[in-house]
Amino acid sequence: MHELSLVQGIIDAVGETASEKGGRVLSVKIGVGELAQFDINLVRGLLNDLKKGTSLEGARITVEPEKSKVKCLSCGKVWNFQELAGPISSDEREMIHLLPELLNSCSRCPSCSKSYFEIEEGRSVRVIEVVLDA
Ligand SMILES: [Zn+2]
Repeated sequence: MHELSLVQGIIDAVGETASEKGGRVLSVKIGVGELAQFDINLVRGLLNDLKKGTSLEGARITVEPEKSKVKCLSCGKVWNFQELAGPISSDEREMIHLLPELLNSCSRCPSCSKSYFEIEEGRSVRVIEVVLDA
């Protein structure tokens, strides 16, 4: 279960920032990319469990989905997954979530109709914002 080590890593990193700056963590905002292979509800639940006894215990933690950015390497246009996935069947969508590289074989650029994509954003989980009371 890599959600567990991911969430532990986030809590450690935020805790370190807080102790360096000597502040209390008021709130943390975390974004989960739509092409990241993480279950957002699981991430949310783990954060609430693992924050106990850390400097994040009293913090308000929000976890929100983040849209992907997929760039067409042929014409340079940037799309999000939903825009490209319109004509894709739901089975294929499932597969792309497991293996985003499949986007190249399942989808074409709506602008130039080539299939050379690079996923720029939306595959990872990141800390968007940390608010300290320092
Ligand atoms: Zn294109």
